[in-house]
Amino acid sequence: MMATNGVVAFDEAVEIVLRHAAGLDRLSTETLALLDCRGRVLAEAVVADRDQPPFDRSTRDGFAVRAAEAAGAALRVLGLVRAGERWQDGALEQGAAIEIMTGAPMPEGADAVVMVEHVERLGEAVRRIEGRTIRAGENVVLRGSEARRGEDLLAAGTVMGATELALAAACGYSELRVYRKPGVAIVATGDELVELDTPPGEQQIRNSNSYGLAAMVGEARGRPWRLAVARDLREEILERVTEGRRAEMLLLSGGVSMGKYDLVEEVLAELGAEFFFTGVKMQPGKPVVFGRLPARAEFPAQFFFGLPGNPVSTQVTFHCFVEPLLRAMGGGGVQGPRFVQATLDEDVAGKAGLMRVLPARLKADRVRPEVRVVGWQGSGDLAANARANCYAVLPPDKERFLVGDVITILLR
Ligand code: AMP
Ligand code: MG
Repeated sequence: MMATNGVVAFDEAVEIVLRHAAGLDRLSTETLALLDCRGRVLAEAVVADRDQPPFDRSTRDGFAVRAAEAAGAALRVLGLVRAGERWQDGALEQGAAIEIMTGAPMPEGADAVVMVEHVERLGEAVRRIEGRTIRAGENVVLRGSEARRGEDLLAAGTVMGATELALAAACGYSELRVYRKPGVAIVATGDELVELDTPPGEQQIRNSNSYGLAAMVGEARGRPWRLAVARDLREEILERVTEGRRAEMLLLSGGVSMGKYDLVEEVLAELGAEFFFTGVKMQPGKPVVFGRLPARAEFPAQFFFGLPGNPVSTQVTFHCFVEPLLRAMGGGGVQGPRFVQATLDEDVAGKAGLMRVLPARLKADRVRPEVRVVGWQGSGDLAANARANCYAVLPPDKERFLVGDVITILLR
């Protein structure tokens, strides 16, 4: 008998997924060369190895002075200090200035830098030009004011972009510990499916889901692993699922509806699966299944999703349920689907009792972003989904949504 939570409301399904995301065991990590960490999730803190800046630093080319003395008197220029050097001839004397380049350490005794553009030269001396004032501290960044030695500058869980990589480099990291990308086995099921190298017969369909899913897995920081299509036969589904046990997560597409040849749930149940839900009150995507296969001698327990086969349903349910769990498995923390709000610029029908998640086009290049549902022929209409760039999320308690209504959209 199949253990099941049955069909749940959309919000509850998201909650169930997030609960499992929050309860994940310790995630595995790997150490990579700094530049290979781009787009990866940090598994350790990046710590300042010294004060930043490491000395009081001039931010301008000019003259290091005592601000109080620079009011108009001519100051004797004692010499010059360049970036990478340090002034060696003792503290700045009264009535004197030291020429200084951007990035050079301040000589002892000086407390400000007058920009080179703001002085006039009088032979061996300089004088601040009329009308310019100078305060102590001006054009100087004090040692440790950006960061203190030992301070955490990036926390574990940070996604490494260009700025983060540069910061890690500034702290001397040539490699970093990051979370491993979870491997995701992808199994498309269906008698009607053919692979790309086979010309489809008239009633056959190309297996596009494996590609769409592989791309989405990659975008959600997983490592996709496409397995061969399983026909709608118990043994073949079982064989493929068994093969896919080596991955951290298993994604199946198709075979989860009520049809006579929808065998995915049965096969998973025979393997002792727990089911966290076996359907969600949404459209498209209602038949989506989420559960876990039990640990076996050679394999740990494995989360799986049975996604409906219609390509738009497959993609919608991926974004709503698979993506949050996968991101968490990759160290990205517990975060639900990415929802934002936009204003409808065309009426659209809801569906009582079902959360509608419809392909839609967001125009975000304005202060009040506008969204419109794209015309489509239903959940098989991949072309319509390609004309969309987000999904309009229409709650189950309303029949009609009107121009000007602010609605939730799901980003993808
Ligand atoms: P199912 O969820 O198995 O009932 O599949 C519903 C419909 O989705 C099928 O009739 C196909 O038209 C389509 N479909 C199923 N699997 C795929 C796939 N891997 N790639 C593209 N379309 C699919
Ligand atoms: Mg099928």
